[in-house]
Amino acid sequence: MGVAACYHVSRAGASVLGLEQFAIPHERGSHGGQSRIIRQAYFEHPDYVPLLKRAYHNWQQLEHRAATHVYHPTGLLYAAPPGHFLISGTQTSAARYNVALQTLAPSERHVRFPAFQLPHHYDVLVEPEAGLLLPHRCLSAYKEQALLAGAVIKEHQRVWGWQKKGNEVVVTTAQGEYRCRTLVITAGAWAGQVLPSLASSLRVTRQVIAWVQPQKPALFQLGSFPCWLIAHPALPGSFYGFPVLPHEKVGGPAGLKIAYHHPGRVVEADEPDRGDTQSDVDVLMDALNTYLPLGCGQLLTVKTCLYTSTPDEHFVIDFLPDMNHQVVVAAGFSGHGFKFVSVVGEVLSDLALQKKTDLPIGFLGLSRLARAGTP
Ligand SMILES: Cc1cc2nc3c(=O)[nH]c(=O)nc-3n(C[C@H](O)[C@H](O)[C@H](O)COP(=O)(O)OP(=O)(O)OC[C@H]3O[C@@H](n4cnc5c(N)ncnc54)[C@H](O)[C@@H]3O)c2cc1C
Repeated sequence: MGVAACYHVSRAGASVLGLEQFAIPHERGSHGGQSRIIRQAYFEHPDYVPLLKRAYHNWQQLEHRAATHVYHPTGLLYAAPPGHFLISGTQTSAARYNVALQTLAPSERHVRFPAFQLPHHYDVLVEPEAGLLLPHRCLSAYKEQALLAGAVIKEHQRVWGWQKKGNEVVVTTAQGEYRCRTLVITAGAWAGQVLPSLASSLRVTRQVIAWVQPQKPALFQLGSFPCWLIAHPALPGSFYGFPVLPHEKVGGPAGLKIAYHHPGRVVEADEPDRGDTQSDVDVLMDALNTYLPLGCGQLLTVKTCLYTSTPDEHFVIDFLPDMNHQVVVAAGFSGHGFKFVSVVGEVLSDLALQKKTDLPIGFLGLSRLARAGTP
C-alpha cells in the first residue's frame, strides 16, 4: 500500500519520502508468496466493487507505464455447499454491479474444469474476468515508477516513532528525523506498533502456503487452469489456489499453490521463526486430495505470510482523529487487500494532498472500530 501511495503522490507532483524497514519487495510481511487473486464479484461486501473497478483500471495503467505484466486473466471458480455465503455474497455483488458471472451446472463442470472433483450438490460459479496478480512485480513496478516521478524511497530504514509537533509531523528512525506536512502510515502487520491506539483492534496471524508438484501437471498450467475458492462444509473460511506459474527467483516455485483463507495462529509481526507448519500443511493436503486429487503430489515448498485482521475483517482507511487531517492510516487488510493496492495508493494520495477523496471509502472508517468498543 505504501509504495503505491508513493507512486500516486509523486505522479501528482508533490514531494514524498517512503520509508521501508526491509527491501521492496520482501518476504516477511503480507505481500510475499508469488501470487494474489483479484476478483470483482466481492462476496465480502458489495461496497468494495466500485473500488475494485478502479483497481482494475489502475493496474492496467501501471502495466502500461512500466511496460510489464503484473496481471494474468485466469478466471476464478467458486464452489460451496448449498446456501453458503461465498456463493450468495458473490451473486449479490455481481448482480448489483453488473459483474459477469456464470453458474456451472453439474454436467458442465467436468467438461470445463477436468481437474476438479466437486461434490454434485455444491453450487459452482465462474467469474471469467477474475485472475491473479504477481505481487513482486507489482511492487517493483510501483517503486520504479515512483522513483522516476521523483519520489525518494529509503529502504532498510525502520520507523521507531512519530509525533505531531506544531504544524508538522516528525518521524524518527535509527538514521535520524524527518519532518513532513502529512504522514501516511501503511505498516501492515507492524501497524499496531506504530499506532498503539489501534493495536487492540488488529490481530496478526501466520498463514501457511504450500506448493506441490501435481501428478498430472498438464491439467494445472497457467492458460487452462483457473484460480479457485472452495468452501468446505466443516470449516470456516475457504481454500483457494492458483495455476502453476513459471519459476521466479523471488516468490515461489513452479508448483501448484494452495492456501486456506481463514485467520491462522496469532503471532508477533517480528517473530522470525513462525513455528511448526505441519498441521497446517496436513489441512491443505486434505483439501487438495478432496477437491483436486490429481494435483496432490510431492510437497515442494512451504512458506508463511502475515494477515492483519480487524474484528469485522474490513479494511481501515481514514484520518487519525485529532491530528488536523495530517496523519492518514491504511491498515487491517484482513487477508484480502492486495488486489486493492492500486486503488488504495490513489486514495491515500488524495487524502494526503487534498484531504478528501471522491472514491467511496466511507464504509472503511475508523469510527466503526470505536463503535465496536475498541479504540
Ligand atoms: C498468504 C496470504 C495470501 C493472500 N492472498 C491474497 C489474495 O489472493 N488476494 C488479495 O487481494 N490479498 C491477499 N492477501 C492479502 C494481501 O497480501 C495483504 O492484504 C496486503 O499485502 C497488505 O498490504 P500492506 O501494505 O498492509 O502490508 P505489507 O505488504 O506487509 O506492507 C507493510 C510494509 O510496512 C513495512 N513496515 C512496517 N513497519 C515498519 C516500520 N516501523 N518502519 C518501516 N517500515 C515498516 C513492512 O516491512 C512492510 O513492507 C494475502 C495475504 C497473505 C498473507
